[in-house]
Amino acid sequence: MEKQQKSSHLVLVMLPFQGHMTPMLQLASILHSKGFSITIVHPELNSPNPSNHPEFTFVSIPDKLTESQLSDKNVTGLVWSLNKTCAVPLRQCLEKILHSHHHIAALIYDTQMYCAQTIADDLGLPGITLRTSAATTLLLYPVFSQLDEEEIKSPELQALHLQRLRALLSQNPAKEMMEIRVELTNALKSSLAIIVNSMEFLELEALSKVKQYFPAPIITIGPLHKVAPAICSSLFTEEDKCISWLNKQAPKSVIYVSLGSMASIDRQEVIEIAWGLSNSKQPFLWVVRPGMVRGSEWIESLPNGFEESVGERGCIVKWAPQTEVLAHAAVGGFWSHCGWNSTIESICEGVPMLCKPFFGDQHLNTSYICNVWKIGLELQNLERGNIERTIKRLMVDMEGNDIRKRAMDLKEKAAFCLVEEGSTSCSFNGLTKHISSASE
Ligand code: UDP
Repeated sequence: MEKQQKSSHLVLVMLPFQGHMTPMLQLASILHSKGFSITIVHPELNSPNPSNHPEFTFVSIPDKLTESQLSDKNVTGLVWSLNKTCAVPLRQCLEKILHSHHHIAALIYDTQMYCAQTIADDLGLPGITLRTSAATTLLLYPVFSQLDEEEIKSPELQALHLQRLRALLSQNPAKEMMEIRVELTNALKSSLAIIVNSMEFLELEALSKVKQYFPAPIITIGPLHKVAPAICSSLFTEEDKCISWLNKQAPKSVIYVSLGSMASIDRQEVIEIAWGLSNSKQPFLWVVRPGMVRGSEWIESLPNGFEESVGERGCIVKWAPQTEVLAHAAVGGFWSHCGWNSTIESICEGVPMLCKPFFGDQHLNTSYICNVWKIGLELQNLERGNIERTIKRLMVDMEGNDIRKRAMDLKEKAAFCLVEEGSTSCSFNGLTKHISSASE
């Protein structure tokens, strides 16, 4: 990839959730390697550790989130509050940078920190947004009500069940959600470019629709985790012991189970998952995040007799080095909540998926995985017999052959994006040129 000649300064505004921080830091690393200097502005919540990224300048802004907002775990409410409380400090922070005569070539903000676009407009700065979910979500959240039924008649869009997703999303028409949709759409419409951590071939039809709705170029620069140098962005401590456990397992035998950084389950569900995994007879690596089981600290609600029944066949950790796990030869399936990062990471390693979405875009990603790309099966409920059967269907049965083959095909396509002069590299060169011409 070309190196930027003129040194320019970029300010990146982060949304403080794991699935948003990682791609933002990866984008920052790549742009830094192209010659940009980077300042990262972030709310106090989940502050990144600056010593992991000595090449960046970090500026923390007060978010004034209360204990009750944080313990409520209402993501929509948190996003809404962050945009309210961070707007003034973000503006002051940018003014301070400008007053100290630091040129800002562009302000790159997480799409859900949409308050940044208004500030960029007021200060005369080019605003560029990073969407850390599928590009298709740009249809779902902001402009879906304008999408005519006739417009989603193409096979790919129909397979996504967008109508069903719309119904699901509008079940919760909280005031905050309505406001977020309006503000986010306005921000997207004023931004100079929309960067998406995706690959064109994954969302072809939806992308062509998205492009009709937004004037700015949509730049698909994924898979970021394969382009960026390895960075430490985990909010939790990774337990490397699972890699030595994986080293002892047969090729493609292990089902890796992780529900990401935010989803939670209740005590009965953890019992069903435990017996489903045990009865499947497949080796499993299970991430149980502390606090993931509602009402439990960690794994104290696992059923009696479970550990004896699985013995060495199971490994439970609090947090795993996920990209390394998915790339491990022993891993043959990924039971996921289908967050977008997990989805992209699985695709890049050719790992077929078992999908159990919880909220938001996880339902859309599940439709892509099961109905469009056909590289996974949806787990309809968390009942132990159903879990056991679905794991076997994915990992062992003949039925899974085609799914596993298609997953490997997608892996190859993703790798193709990454070759020299491939689409990812072209997108990055386009992005840097775009930034340079906007700031001239
Ligand atoms: N992750 C990880 N270790 C784990 C579980 C998750 O490193 O044990 C990482 C995973 O690789 C991904 C991110 O956490 O990059 C989760 O993001 P995703 O969009 O999949 O879901 P979210 O956490 O936002 O719901």
